[in-house]
Amino acid sequence: MGTPSGRTGNFLLDSVPASDLDRLINGIAPSTMEHDQVVQRPNTPIQDVLFPTSGVASVMTFLNHGNAVKTVEAITVGREGMTNVHAAVGATMSGPDATVMQVDGKGFVVAIGRVTAEMHRQGVFADVVHRYVQAFWAQTAFGSACNAVHHVTQRCAQWLLQTHDRVDGDTFYLTQEYLANMLGDERSTVSVAAGDLQRRGLIEYSRGNVTVRDRPALESAACECYGKIRAEHNRLAPMD
Ligand SMILES: [Zn+2]
Repeated sequence: MGTPSGRTGNFLLDSVPASDLDRLINGIAPSTMEHDQVVQRPNTPIQDVLFPTSGVASVMTFLNHGNAVKTVEAITVGREGMTNVHAAVGATMSGPDATVMQVDGKGFVVAIGRVTAEMHRQGVFADVVHRYVQAFWAQTAFGSACNAVHHVTQRCAQWLLQTHDRVDGDTFYLTQEYLANMLGDERSTVSVAAGDLQRRGLIEYSRGNVTVRDRPALESAACECYGKIRAEHNRLAPMD
């Protein structure tokens, strides 16, 4: 994915006029977000929204699984979007999910009061956020169907493509344990899937770093969900 040509590097913020942008981020410098940093905890008051300019955040769901807790990624958020999107449309508390940085990066952390005030103006920002919510919904809908129906290797390819879309370059840090958490599968199962993609020359995996070697072939290896989610983003909240 190319770097946005706008003023901030976040596609939502760069879609609004300068005066609206000033009301949103005046006086706010981009924050650095570390890998594994929790951006929003479950069931807590929502105090701010992150507009990533680089890096990738994941909305994670938690399920009891025997004596352990299993995590599964529900949504990927990068510079095309924002975290806590439900707060922009009225929520004051987070749900039972958490938002965690999966790839480190930067972004504007904006107090929720500024975000909701701008939404209430019902100007360009509100239009942009509403379109993003629709694209966000497509990710949620296809994501749940995907987890139920599609093979782990297809889902692995899809997840790698979604991350690749949101980072600079072709390499990003990703442990197999983390990938297993994202996909909701056992680590051994994900290891076989990633090994399969590597043997076919689509990716290279070395010491926690994934490099996308053959993007078109990786797209062919992914399930239909990747293309359908991407098409909704292109229609509603473009990613490049
Ligand atoms: Zn799928």
